[in-house]
Amino acid sequence: MTIFEKIINKEIPASIVYEDESVLAFNDIAPQAPTHVLFIHKLSKTKNVSEMMKNHPEQIQDLFNAITSFAKENNFEDGYRVVTNQGKSGGQTVFYTHFHFLAGASLGRFGK
Ligand code: AMP
Repeated sequence: MTIFEKIINKEIPASIVYEDESVLAFNDIAPQAPTHVLFIHKLSKTKNVSEMMKNHPEQIQDLFNAITSFAKENNFEDGYRVVTNQGKSGGQTVFYTHFHFLAGASLGRFGK
């Protein structure tokens, strides 16, 4: 079982900042921006976004609905970044599909 499934099961604590019937979001333990939140689907059985797209594309819709609601509720509509790391070479370390939500600073462009 991955660490994120343990968070869903309340086996380990997390700082939860958003929850709806499908999605849970909590603060990243090693933030890379003033706001760094991880969004996961409670019913996901997939390890990355390409698997989720293939088997449960509706879960991607649930996740982005949650992300846009969270951004609106927290006044981040002027700008934020959503990232997913896919596979070891993509920098993925937890193999349970998730999106990083980064905001609260001028994030700059990739490569700058
Ligand atoms: P990734 O490298 O894209 O798989 O992202 C995994 C993220 O999970 C990293 O940014 C970690 O800092 C974060 N992380 C790992 N364990 C925890 C935890 N117990 N609570 C919150 N975030 C975590």
